[in-house]
Amino acid sequence: MSFELPKLSYAYNALEPYIDARTMEIHHGKHHGAYTNNLNGAVQGTALEGKKIEEILAGVSAHSAVVRNNGGGFYNHNLYWEVMAPGGAKNPAGELLDAINGSFGSVQNFKEAFTKAALTRFGSGWAWLVRQGDSLVVSSTPNQDNPLMDVAEVKGTPILGIDVWEHAYYLNYQNRRPDYVDAFWNVVNWDEVARRFKG
Ligand code: MN
Repeated sequence: MSFELPKLSYAYNALEPYIDARTMEIHHGKHHGAYTNNLNGAVQGTALEGKKIEEILAGVSAHSAVVRNNGGGFYNHNLYWEVMAPGGAKNPAGELLDAINGSFGSVQNFKEAFTKAALTRFGSGWAWLVRQGDSLVVSSTPNQDNPLMDVAEVKGTPILGIDVWEHAYYLNYQNRRPDYVDAFWNVVNWDEVARRFKG
């Protein structure tokens, strides 16, 4: 198989009470598992087989909706699991902190912009912190689109993302997306965000 569902580096219950174990288990095993399987099915025997996911997404406008939706779903969830961790640093530091301050004025301003993007995304999608050269911007995308895609309104390298599909929070938070987004800050893995920023 071309693409593999990654193992998480922490247990399903490790992000509690902010994200519950049952949500994590279904989200990773069922949702991410399905995106991965469907992507493999879509690329098998085509010119896309063996290509890196980033390369596929960069030219996604030339491919089918199945590749766009499942390729995005595969990539986005890989990022989502990695930019969360139990007991990580509470705030960005170093060069990432400098870049956030330079682009948004303060961490607080950045968090407000990111939260607004997450809350105003109508329906299913994602909010992102995106590197564009030396600067950072916040964006959001519908469905499983992301800033690596040539179809994205705001293009760049995503270094932090939050899944705001209801499957990411409904069991624990029901319709209260704002509570989920608030809770998310407690589990952000700033070391991984910084690694992706330098990447
Ligand atoms: Mn999801």
